[in-house]
Amino acid sequence: MSKVRVRFAPSPTGYVHVGNARTALFNWLFARHQGGTFVLRIEDTDAERSKPEYERQLMEDLRWLGLDWDEGPDVGGPLGPYRQSERSAIYQEYVQKLIAQRDAYYCFCSAEQLEAERQEALKEGRQPRYSGRCRKLSAEVVAQRQAAGEHGAVRLKINESSFFWNDRVHGPTTVSSEVIGDPVIVRSEGLPAYNFAVVIDDHLMEISHVIRGDDHISNTPRQIALYRALGWEPPEFAHLSTILGTDRTRLSKRHGATSME
Ligand code: GLU
Repeated sequence: MSKVRVRFAPSPTGYVHVGNARTALFNWLFARHQGGTFVLRIEDTDAERSKPEYERQLMEDLRWLGLDWDEGPDVGGPLGPYRQSERSAIYQEYVQKLIAQRDAYYCFCSAEQLEAERQEALKEGRQPRYSGRCRKLSAEVVAQRQAAGEHGAVRLKINESSFFWNDRVHGPTTVSSEVIGDPVIVRSEGLPAYNFAVVIDDHLMEISHVIRGDDHISNTPRQIALYRALGWEPPEFAHLSTILGTDRTRLSKRHGATSME
């Protein structure tokens, strides 16, 4: 049996548009061509914007297109659950592990503080990125602030100076860490950030090839950093070109007319 395992991982926050459908199609074709497995994973960590109705509709849209999946929230599978909202305990385990091994730390910077830092960098013509201020907080200070009711976000420490991957579409790709501040992996409300949940899930679901839109290229170095911190081998990455609307901007929920339905 082929070890190729790919996934389509939509967020059920709106209707599927032709751009998402094209990403799903490439994944499905690759899985079927290689005799591999096509996984449907629902990325519904944004509880406010995710709706069961959108999830139902996206499954209907995929079926209408003739794209069937081998594992997913409705059909099950050995490496589920396949809805991120049902995987909180798994994420929690890995956050604790990263904190314990000092690859992640609590950050109490307020939105205002971060915005001020950003503006300052822009004014000085620097690329804005998180300064790493909270890296230096001692365990005692963290404990005190948490006891006082501050939750804090969790950030991953970026130690590498650059990241490299051989993209299956773009070819050899290198990104300097100068443009990457320590990314948030858990938000202060306790929700796992996309870059974190996606790595845990892609690894545990044994995804061999991450095939997605090139709007995610800037996330890939952050995800590679997480694979490294967890001692995991990253999958292959293939970033597809994205379809643009007639106004030359990326398709989005705004281009309502292009929803699959
Ligand atoms: N939920 C993400 C999206 O819809 C998935 C991105 C990815 O494939 O990694 O954009």
